[in-house]
Amino acid sequence: MRWLYKIIRRIFPAQWHGLLTALLYDLRIKPTVNRKVKTPFSKGIIVLSADFEMAWAFRYSKTKGKIAEEMGLRERENVPKLLTLFEKYQIPITWATVGHLFLDSCSKGQGLNAHPMMPRHSFFENSNWSFSSGDWYQHDPCSNYKDAPAWYAPDLIDQIIQSPVDHELGCHTFSHIDCTDRNCSSQLLNVELTACIELASKKGIQLKSMVFPGGTNGNYSTLKELGFTNYRKATNYHIDIPFINDDGLVQIPSSHNLDRSNQNWSAKRYIRMANSFVKKASKHKMVAHLWFHPSMDSWYIENVLPHILENLKKSSNNGDIEILTMGAVANKVKNISND
Ligand SMILES: [Zn+2]
Ligand SMILES: [Zn+2]
Repeated sequence: MRWLYKIIRRIFPAQWHGLLTALLYDLRIKPTVNRKVKTPFSKGIIVLSADFEMAWAFRYSKTKGKIAEEMGLRERENVPKLLTLFEKYQIPITWATVGHLFLDSCSKGQGLNAHPMMPRHSFFENSNWSFSSGDWYQHDPCSNYKDAPAWYAPDLIDQIIQSPVDHELGCHTFSHIDCTDRNCSSQLLNVELTACIELASKKGIQLKSMVFPGGTNGNYSTLKELGFTNYRKATNYHIDIPFINDDGLVQIPSSHNLDRSNQNWSAKRYIRMANSFVKKASKHKMVAHLWFHPSMDSWYIENVLPHILENLKKSSNNGDIEILTMGAVANKVKNISND
C-alpha cells in the first residue's frame, strides 16, 4: 500500500499532494493500520507527546534557522495555553524536553565558549539540519530565562510539574543533537543524556521516555544503559502496536503531527483527520500517537486542538480508548511481556 502511495505521489504534481492526502483520509485508506500483528491490548491507546525544545531545535534548521529565536518565543507563548487545554480536558501528555531548558541561566566558560564541559558535534548535515561552521553552542546567549526567554524555560517546566494533570517529562537531549549512529558517538549521547538526567532529578523527575530530535533515532544501547525505557519512532503504519527492541527498549509508534499544514484545509478537516486516528486505534485496539511542536500554529491551538481533545476525553469516558503517557505505555508493554 505504501509503495502504491509513493508512486501516486510521484505521478501527481506537488500542488495536488494535499488533495491526495485529503482524499485518502476521506476514503478511510488513511490512517493505515498494521493488520499483520495481533494486538495485546483490550482497548485502543492514545498517546500524546510534545517536542519541547524552544529556540534550540531551529538553530541549524535549513528552513527555520534564521527564525530560531522567534520560534522559541512562539513556543513560550503557547505552552501555558496548551497546559490550560490539557487541564480542561484532563489529558496527560509526555513533554520531551530539551535539557538546556531546565537551566535558569548559564555563562561562558574559559575560551568564551558556552558549556565548555559538553562535548561538541562534529560538522554534519542531515535532511533537516546543516552544521558546517563555528561552535555547536555558538547561538547560546549565555544569559538567563528573563533576558533570553527563548533559550531557557525553568518557569514553564515548573508549570508542567505543577499542573493538576499528571504529565510526564521526557527527554529530547540536552542541546537538540542528531542522535543517529552516523552523526553521534555513544559518548556524545551519554554526556547529553546524563546532563538531562541530572537537571531533571534536581526537580524530582526521573527521565524514562525519549524523543529523538528530528527523528534521528539511534544509539539505543546508550539510552538503555542510562535507564530509559522507551522512545518514539514511526513505523510503516499510522496505527500500530509498540514492541520491545533488541536493546530491551519499548518502541512506541508515531502516528500524526498535530499542526496546521501548508494546505488550505478547514478546521473541520483537521479535526476529522485527527479523530480518525482515535477511531481506528479504538476499533483495532492499537496505539495512535499524536505528537506536536509547542511552537505550532496558534490558529490550530484555538480552532482545532480543543475539539480533538474534547473527542479524546469523550472516547476515554466512554471506555473506547485509554490515554497514556509514553512512560505508561512502556510499563504496560513490559507488564504484558512479563505475564
Ligand atoms: Zn547555555
Ligand atoms: Zn526537536
